[in-house]
Amino acid sequence: MTRQEKIYDLLIIGGGPAGFSSAIYASRSQMSVLVIESMLSGGQIATTEKMENYPGFPDGVNGMEFGQLLEKQARTFGSEMVLATVTGVSLQERIKQVHTTEGTFRGRSVVIATGTRSRPLGVPGEEELKGKGVSYCATCDGFFYQERTVMVVGGGDSALEEALVLTKFASKVYVVHRREELRAIAILQERAHANSKIELILNTEVAKFNGDERLESVTLHNKVQNKTWDLPVDGLFLYVGLIPNTEFLAKAIEQNEHGYLLATEEMETSIAGVFVAGDLRVKSLRQVVTAVADGAIAAFSAAHYVDELNESERRQNDE
Ligand code: NAP
Repeated sequence: MTRQEKIYDLLIIGGGPAGFSSAIYASRSQMSVLVIESMLSGGQIATTEKMENYPGFPDGVNGMEFGQLLEKQARTFGSEMVLATVTGVSLQERIKQVHTTEGTFRGRSVVIATGTRSRPLGVPGEEELKGKGVSYCATCDGFFYQERTVMVVGGGDSALEEALVLTKFASKVYVVHRREELRAIAILQERAHANSKIELILNTEVAKFNGDERLESVTLHNKVQNKTWDLPVDGLFLYVGLIPNTEFLAKAIEQNEHGYLLATEEMETSIAGVFVAGDLRVKSLRQVVTAVADGAIAAFSAAHYVDELNESERRQNDE
C-alpha cells in the first residue's frame, strides 16, 4: 500500500520540535504517524547555531543536530516522514485530507505544527537584494562575511543572538533598532554591550536598501535627531519578528488577527480531530521547550480522539 492509499491515525504537518515531539509520543502509543515536512528537520531551530536554554544540554546544542536527533527518535518508534509542501487541507470530514506536492495524504487526526517564518521589513530594495546581501539567517550565511561589515535589524532575542554569532566572522556588526530600549533578554543585552565588534544604532529605522547587483549600503533615519544617512555594509540580516505559517489553512481554523491559531489547553482547534502545537498557536512563550510540550499534549489528545472515533465506528458497525 502506498502512503497515499493508507489512512494514518495521525498526520503531522511540520517537522520542527513540536511536530516531532508529537510524532514521538503518538508513535510510542501505537498510532500510525506520517510527518509532512517541506524543508529541513528541526524547523526554525535548525538555523540556530547553539541553543543554550533547552534543559539537559548544559553546554548548549547545535540547532541542526537537535533537529536530526528529533527526526531519528520519531523514526525509531515507527513514524514515517515525507518531504512535501502542503498546498491545502480538507479537515471537516472524519477522514481528513492534506493535499501536498507529493499527492494527498489521509488521516483520522491531524496535528498542525508549521511554526513561523521571518517577517520581511517591507522597505524598498529588500525583495530585489534578497540573497544578494540581504539575509534572514546569520547561522546559514554569516560565514560569507569574514572580516566584512554587516548590519542586523531588530532589537529582540533573535537580533542580538544572531548579531553575536556574526561577530565570529565579521569585523563590524551594527545592530539597528527602532526604539531606545532593546526588547531582548538581559543576558543577550549584556553580551552585546560587552562585544567590541557590536555597535548599537538606536531610535533608527531602515528607509531602504541600496545596490544594483549586491547590497552596498542601507539608508537609515534617526527619528530623535531627524537625521537621514547612508551606511555602507556588505551584508544585512533581518530579525524583525515572525509570521505564523498558517496561510495553507485558508482560515479553516479559528485564528487571531495576526494569523496565530487558537487552541485549548489540550491543543484542540475549532475543528474536531485537528490539533495544533508550537509557535503558530496563540501563546505567551515561543520556545523549543514549550513547542515540545505542546507536541506531546497534541499527540495525547489526538490518540484520545482516534480511540473514540474507532469506538464509535465499531458501535455503528455492530448496529
Ligand atoms: P520579536 O521578539 O518579535 O522581536 C522583533 C524585533 O523587531 C523587535 O525589537 C521589534 O521592535 C523589531 N521590529 C518589528 N517590526 C519592525 C519594523 N517594521 N521595523 C523595525 N523593527 C521592527 O522577534 P524575535 O526576536 O524573532 O523573537 C521571536 C520569539 O522567539 C520571541 O518570543 C523570542 O523570545 C523567541 N526567541 C528566543 C530566543 C532565546 O531564548 N534564546 C532566541 C530567539 C528568539 P520593538 O521592540 O520596537 O517592537
